[in-house]
Amino acid sequence: MSKGQINVQTENIFPVIKKFLYSEHDIFIRELISNAVDATQKLKTLSTMGKFDGELGDLTIHVKVDKDAHTITVSDHGIGMTAEEVDKYINQIAFSGAEEFLEKFKMEEGNIIGHFGLGFYSAFMVSEKVDIITRSYQTDAKAVKWSCNGSPDYEMEECDKEERGTDIILHLAEDGMEFADEQKIVALLRKYCRFLPIPIQCGEETRWEKPEGVEPKEGEEVKEVEVKVPRIINNTHPLWKQSPSTIKPEEYLDFYRELYPMTFEEPLFQIHLNVDYPFNLTGILYFPKVRNQLEIQKNKVQLYCNQVFITDQLEGVIPEFMMLLHGVIDSPDIPLNVSRSYLQSDANVKKISSHITKKVADKLEEMFKNNREEYEKKWDDLKVFIEYGCITDEKFYERAKNFILFKNVDGKYFTMDEYRTNIETLQRDKNDVVVYLYANNTDNQHVYIQSAKEKGYDVLLMDGFLDTHFINLLEPKIEKCRFARVDADVMEKLIEKDEVMPAKLSEDEQKTLKETFEKCADKEKFTVNIANLSETELPIMITQNEFMRRFQDMQKLSGQQSFYGDYNHYNLVVNGNHPIASKILAEQDENAKEKMTHQLIDLALLSQNLLTGEKLSEFVKRSVEMM
Ligand code: ADP
Repeated sequence: MSKGQINVQTENIFPVIKKFLYSEHDIFIRELISNAVDATQKLKTLSTMGKFDGELGDLTIHVKVDKDAHTITVSDHGIGMTAEEVDKYINQIAFSGAEEFLEKFKMEEGNIIGHFGLGFYSAFMVSEKVDIITRSYQTDAKAVKWSCNGSPDYEMEECDKEERGTDIILHLAEDGMEFADEQKIVALLRKYCRFLPIPIQCGEETRWEKPEGVEPKEGEEVKEVEVKVPRIINNTHPLWKQSPSTIKPEEYLDFYRELYPMTFEEPLFQIHLNVDYPFNLTGILYFPKVRNQLEIQKNKVQLYCNQVFITDQLEGVIPEFMMLLHGVIDSPDIPLNVSRSYLQSDANVKKISSHITKKVADKLEEMFKNNREEYEKKWDDLKVFIEYGCITDEKFYERAKNFILFKNVDGKYFTMDEYRTNIETLQRDKNDVVVYLYANNTDNQHVYIQSAKEKGYDVLLMDGFLDTHFINLLEPKIEKCRFARVDADVMEKLIEKDEVMPAKLSEDEQKTLKETFEKCADKEKFTVNIANLSETELPIMITQNEFMRRFQDMQKLSGQQSFYGDYNHYNLVVNGNHPIASKILAEQDENAKEKMTHQLIDLALLSQNLLTGEKLSEFVKRSVEMM
């Protein structure tokens, strides 16, 4: 038996470990299992290289929780360690001192450290004593037992251990006692080790199975019985590690379900990432159906490092809009031993992030080019994602402008270029600006859409919840253009042409008409205008200024209290050329005149869904009287 003192410059490392790492206690399991997997993989490699010719045997890693003895044991059948190796890897490196420890893991001010590979050390976050019982794969190697109770002193002695491999035994400390619970450990293993390449077993689970060797009685089936089977935690061949060319579409779906058992909607499609230069990255990104629930969808992409789960908090690691995707990214090149703020400024992380953006854009473009029809079918679901990408990432917009689609109110899709060609002649105003008309509700804005169509104009459907934002983005990017919602003004004003419609009424008559309407309309809400439109246009319309409305929409979207509250101001546009205008002017009976005016205003309100309650009842009553 040998005794010694671990080489520590600062008194004791363990208070440091506990103090700095309290927020991340559960990662100890991830670290110990990773070591066990590494040790097993190393042995497999030696075996393939012919440097180990013994039996590999069952390589399953076992995790045992003894709730009475307050211990957790992680056992592997990997390469194990000789006494010299324990000295070298555990005594010297692992305990090379608190200062170095702090330096190595780049401690941040405050207590919060990101996710990092703490290694064997982390066992002391939850244990008062740790034993290592290990036997190297080398022939004639003697088994050793190493023990350390958290002081800088350790003990090491030869011991009995028949099998090759390592057992790490954690004697849980008082404040680590919560981990003396198999269910808790199983949950942690499922979180961190779900896709590790070596099978991991923890406890047993019950299953219903038909017993073997039992013959069914005639006309009966053999009854299933409850059997206890070893509980295997992980899927050792996660799909993202397999070659895309060998994977069938339903396998992608199955894997999606495995990742998100609580998500019932199927993804639209996926991108299988497989990069080995200039960095290593594999993964599968799924496009979910994102309609309008931007927030709920975040935090679904999981980051792995060599199949070990690291985090699903990926702000700053992948571009903002990618957070809407689902799936996994696995890269050994993302530094894990540092905090997230460091992660965000890391050059590799930046490269990875822009690479993923590029891959996603490539895939979308390829889908668009290869099968436009299919792409159009998916567009309504893709739209939020693409718009969000364009809004938050200029580079993505540069790529996406080739495969952004516009959908019109008749359900036809156009690329931005196609649409421009389509409307550029007719919808050009007298200042040479091409006006992109849009509606956000085909029912509510039916009258206005009709009025645009009668002039041969096309109307886009912009009913997505990011559309106002998106329009603000596009407007300065598209040459000489302006977006206007169909009810922002009368068509003649929205797309003003050189030729003006002559006025049938004199200026005085127009003034009187305006006053007549002003008397009947709610002044707080409406400004009355007389416009000289074609006789065949509607006699009266309600419009709302494009920029005022957009401003309010944007405020609503950002969750701000509107400066104007819910106060909406509208224009009441009366068509001075319509025969009804002349009729109202000519009416001698003041009572009848007022009735007609009210009736007209109410009709306009009705077409904008603004006539409700008492005012609606009055309208119904008046209409009956007038019939
Ligand atoms: P890291 O894994 O980051 O190198 P650790 O402190 O976790 O740091 O481990 C130090 C070394 O101890 C490992 O590199 C490995 O050589 C050895 N080691 C740890 N756990 C095992 C194990 N279960 N089997 C064999 N060797 C191990």
